[in-house]
Amino acid sequence: MTKKKIVVLGAGYAGLRTVKGLQKKGLDADITLINKNSYHYEATQLHEVAAGTEPAKKISFEIKDVIDESKVNFIQDEVVTINHDAQEVSLKEGEKVSYDYLVVALGFESESFGIPGVDEFGWPLVDIKTAEAAKAQLDKNLQNYKVSKDPKDLSIVVCGAGFTSIEYLGEISNRLPKLADKFDFPMDKVKVTCIEAMPKLLPMFSEKLASYGIDVLEKRGVEFIVGTPIKEIKESSVVYEQDGELKEIEASTIIWTTGVRGSSVVGASGFEERRGRVMVEPDLTVKGQPNVFMIGDVSAVMDEASGRPYPTTAQIALVQADFVVEAMANKFAGTEPKGFEFKSAGTVASLGNNDGIGHTMNKDFKGYIASVMKKGIVDKSLLQTGTPSVLLKKGRFDFYH
Ligand code: NAD
Repeated sequence: MTKKKIVVLGAGYAGLRTVKGLQKKGLDADITLINKNSYHYEATQLHEVAAGTEPAKKISFEIKDVIDESKVNFIQDEVVTINHDAQEVSLKEGEKVSYDYLVVALGFESESFGIPGVDEFGWPLVDIKTAEAAKAQLDKNLQNYKVSKDPKDLSIVVCGAGFTSIEYLGEISNRLPKLADKFDFPMDKVKVTCIEAMPKLLPMFSEKLASYGIDVLEKRGVEFIVGTPIKEIKESSVVYEQDGELKEIEASTIIWTTGVRGSSVVGASGFEERRGRVMVEPDLTVKGQPNVFMIGDVSAVMDEASGRPYPTTAQIALVQADFVVEAMANKFAGTEPKGFEFKSAGTVASLGNNDGIGHTMNKDFKGYIASVMKKGIVDKSLLQTGTPSVLLKKGRFDFYH
């Protein structure tokens, strides 16, 4: 009898963790992992690459350093579509890969919400390439000020005040004085503005914690404009609405971090989705397709307590991956899998290397202790997706400066 084929799409938190678990389980199956790049990157740390506080290699590692190639076949290619009727996946280079079981973990893309100019002039932070491009753009503009003397070259607008924006602001506000020395521009002429549509900043944290975080960033020179949806991005300016009036702020660097959507492959493959996310069954499979699991940012899992899907985070993606490994083992053993359960362990946002805010175990944490917690989370996830050797090379052990 030929072996069953398990195909995992994507080597982000969800996909790579699944493959690590499957290769350990020793199921009688052929396992294939398909990923666009040869490497995995820690998506939660892209803001560091964009701000220039860490190089790309610090937040990424080669997939082949983690998988056991005697058990897993790795194909580096881009998934174009999934054809469920034919039970096969089409790749960009023309190859077709058939499956008996499929784990779709294709991750996220930037979301423009149809706002004009976003795709042309906004700099998203969604992968290594875009984070490096955002850094290059920022450095170019700051450096150019010496010649241009144009105030917009020293103006940075960060769109949205979600986690990614806040963590980016934390990094960049710390680094700007160093960049001022390097590129010889006056710090007092630098303008960092964050524009948020909702009236309240950091609503996921308590009032006290949110105001600590805002205060830290404001003291470092960040200006927040809230309750002001962005309406258009132009080549060197951002248009937003305030009290029914359109206003415009000039900036050569426009960071687009207003939220993400699941991979567009999901919609292109005919799955019923909203913003690239499929509402999955309690066992994380797709309705009517019990051999197809959707996990990570392409999945929406209903949180019965709030009546809304859980936010997409690395934390839930890793828990989903562990669940899928067990569910797959159940399928092979012919036993019934349990329903997926998730209890968030809490949330931490960094505000640069040595500061942060977090909530876990029913307690709020702020300042240095929160930054240590954040580093602990990064290190734990490097172990969950990587190996002890990856952790030693890429981990965060700089707790003391
Ligand atoms: P997000 O959805 O968390 O935040 C986007 C923000 O942009 C929101 O506050 C939204 O109101 C605002 N916004 C949207 N449209 C706007 C507009 N037109 N004008 C102005 N503001 C607008 O997105 P994110 O920060 O990219 O994070 C994506 C996911 O990843 C989230 O689920 C987040 O929780 C998670 N994440 C978590 C961490 C962490 O735990 N430390 C870090 C990064 C990301």
